[in-house]
Amino acid sequence: MNETFADRLEKVRRRITDACEQAGRPADSVKLLAVSKTRPPEAVREAVECGLTLFGENRVQEAQNKIPLCPDHLEWHLIGHLQSNKAKVAVKFFKMIHSIDSLHLLEAVESHAATTLPILLQVNVSGEAAKFGMKPEEVAGVIDAANQMRHVEVHGLMTIPPFSPDPEKTREHFSNLRKLRDRLQDETGTPLPELSMGMSHDLEVAIEEGSTWVRIGTDLFGSRN
Ligand SMILES: *Cc1c(COP(=O)(O)O)cnc(C)c1O
Repeated sequence: MNETFADRLEKVRRRITDACEQAGRPADSVKLLAVSKTRPPEAVREAVECGLTLFGENRVQEAQNKIPLCPDHLEWHLIGHLQSNKAKVAVKFFKMIHSIDSLHLLEAVESHAATTLPILLQVNVSGEAAKFGMKPEEVAGVIDAANQMRHVEVHGLMTIPPFSPDPEKTREHFSNLRKLRDRLQDETGTPLPELSMGMSHDLEVAIEEGSTWVRIGTDLFGSRN
């Protein structure tokens, strides 16, 4: 028998619950974002039938086409790199943006937002050259700038560590994001409760290191090829 979406969801939920227990954290301290990139609206609908309402997309163009074809009570989060010239469309479709990676982009998003918009600042904690994300030392300045803005509200940090098949190798990057968050809270006086980190293969380690949003594609919807 093929695994159904419900089966895969149950497994992912159990992994989240187990990791929370392992880390001594309440099970509801971690939110599950279902990453539906590359999946058709039918796949989203199946997920909705299983009770999911929080979905992540990484490209504005794809989301713009897909979201109108999906049930309308869902909450969409942008998790991929955003170009400033697409900020106007992005603020129309997304309830939260996890991938603000520059002051310039923050300003573009602010200028188009019509209401309060929760955002996360994406940080390149590993220093890996090819990755999006601001440098750790840039983040405090961006938080200060955001605190002067009317619409955007920084709720925390996000990172995408370099891929390693061994999640233990990723732990230090998650841990560094949490420590950076702790330091920035002290330095800027801005509450930063959210940490968006952890994907299908490393959600346990991310939760042990303090994640509040795990972004799961493959282990919910199957492999993308
Ligand atoms: C695709 C993607 C994910 C989900 O990755 P999986 O390994 O399929 O769970 C999470 N975060 C971002 C930013 C992504 O682009």
